[in-house]
Amino acid sequence: MASEHKTFDTETHSSPITVMICESSQVQLRILSKAVSDAGFEVQTANNSEEALDIMRLMPVDIFLTGIEVGEINGLEACWSLKGNAETESTYTIIVTASGDESRLEESLDAGADDFIRKPVNMTELRARLRAASRLVRMQKQFRRLAETDSLTGSSNRRAFMQYLEMEVERSSRHGAETSVIMLDLDHFKKVNDTYGHAAGDKVLIETVKAIQSCLRPKDMLGRLGGEEFAILLQETDLVDAAEISEQIRSALEQRTIDLPCGGKVNVTGSMGVSNVCELLGQDSPETVLQAADEALYYAKQSGRNQVIVCNPDYGDDEEDYAEAS
Ligand code: GH3
Ligand code: MG
Ligand code: MG
Repeated sequence: MASEHKTFDTETHSSPITVMICESSQVQLRILSKAVSDAGFEVQTANNSEEALDIMRLMPVDIFLTGIEVGEINGLEACWSLKGNAETESTYTIIVTASGDESRLEESLDAGADDFIRKPVNMTELRARLRAASRLVRMQKQFRRLAETDSLTGSSNRRAFMQYLEMEVERSSRHGAETSVIMLDLDHFKKVNDTYGHAAGDKVLIETVKAIQSCLRPKDMLGRLGGEEFAILLQETDLVDAAEISEQIRSALEQRTIDLPCGGKVNVTGSMGVSNVCELLGQDSPETVLQAADEALYYAKQSGRNQVIVCNPDYGDDEEDYAEAS
């Protein structure tokens, strides 16, 4: 279930490895493209490095295979550029060197190229090198997934959530897209631990994640911020829709009867605070958006728990910045 929803890196082990091929000769590009595609890779192509970089910035690929003389920015500089950008730094880069370029091999590797292959390209060798690169790419993804996943519940962990939130807040400010955030804290969770034991508490956390995820869309992201506190990022969602989704989560959680390892059953509830990226309210950084949701959550707790409070930008002064969702 968890893998169906967005984690910071949504790739699964079986997803195809993507390769960007950048080559100025159309004939070469066609030959390479066919060989790589026939070997089972998903191929993108570009005639020059500027075009290749533009595409990869929008949609990062796993492997970048490039010649050296491929535009005003040469292939080596393109590798350098990829490695210098957080979103593309893990791209595996392979330089295709023409005969006579041997002196540039050292420069290639220093520029951030992970491997090189000589022209004329031997297709068997190319496929073997791409397979070796794929093994590294998959291993790297696996490590990354482990580092970004909460081991108990399978949701994203705090670090991954905050990284994703940062990206989305930035995207939201750049494109004016609506982004909302929900904070959820289980009510009286300590009582579950005290009454049924820590293992029961753990089961409740696992079931809480399932209940929340049953209400989310694939593009939404759930993170466990710590203990029994969760945050949800809703892409392209305004406060009204975010409040509605929160209400569905609140209800799904309340109605879920959880079988405990000790044999008993328990129902839990959660309190939620909702906010959005809103420059007018100064909620234009990951910290301020989350803080606004946290303050709304505080009001939800104060008002009796098991409810949703929305940080409402339609109201001016502090006291009235918050409104019950239903
Ligand atoms: P409130 O309604 O005010 O939020 O009360 P609460 O009891 O939910 O909150 P409180 O902060 O008093 O207690 C949270 C508890 O969560 C205390 C801590 O032992 C427990 N906890 C934190 N992480 C875990 C975990 O991974 N597993 C289990 N079983 N318990 C955890
Ligand atoms: Mg709590
Ligand atoms: Mg708490």
